[in-house]
Amino acid sequence: MGRGPRGGLRPHRSRLVRTEFETMTAAAQKANPDGLQPCWSCKGPVASTAMFCATCGAVQPPGQGDRFTRLGLARDFDVDRGDLDRRYFALQRDLHPDRFATRAAREREISLQQSTSLNEAYETVKSPLRRAEYLLSLNGVTVNAETGNRPADPDVLMEAMESREALAEAETEAEIAALAEQARDNQRHCLDALTVAFRADDLDAAARLATRLKYLATFTEEARGRARARRAP
Ligand SMILES: [Zn+2]
Repeated sequence: MGRGPRGGLRPHRSRLVRTEFETMTAAAQKANPDGLQPCWSCKGPVASTAMFCATCGAVQPPGQGDRFTRLGLARDFDVDRGDLDRRYFALQRDLHPDRFATRAAREREISLQQSTSLNEAYETVKSPLRRAEYLLSLNGVTVNAETGNRPADPDVLMEAMESREALAEAETEAEIAALAEQARDNQRHCLDALTVAFRADDLDAAARLATRLKYLATFTEEARGRARARRAP
């Protein structure tokens, strides 16, 4: 940048006029999502994805990065669950309220925002269905039979209708259990196919499979509910 890290760039605290530093970092961030922004506490430069300021140690507000970046992961459907958990718990440890008990109210508040945003990222990336939907939404594809931006797949609709019929007609607990088991099996296969589709960058196939996975998950729950209702006295 050719300038000292702080020299001459200390922002004025006017809310109306963008400081040179803010304008510069906004432009840098557009070009590079890992760009720098000023620390709210010491005004030193902080990477937009950093949780803490390297200069003063203050916790930073959650940035605008996506939920994968939030966890230090690439935007990818393939996620190693052990790795995901390790990252999440390490980050959550850094944000533990005990660490902020003696800090100023502003810092405590920001650490809570960080914690909420981190939980949201974790819940999204952990669930294969939510992860698929989120990845698709990052690519401008909404997966929802009613409001989605693609027509529902007729094969998926037909399959959903037929299984609902079969469930409605199932009379014994064994019949219901068999339908639930079948749906769980289909879910596993659907998930494998979804992984292949994302690896091939085939968003059309991924959207179709995510819709099917969503319906299969709902159906499995319905079948379990029916089974529970039958067992109840
Ligand atoms: Zn700082």
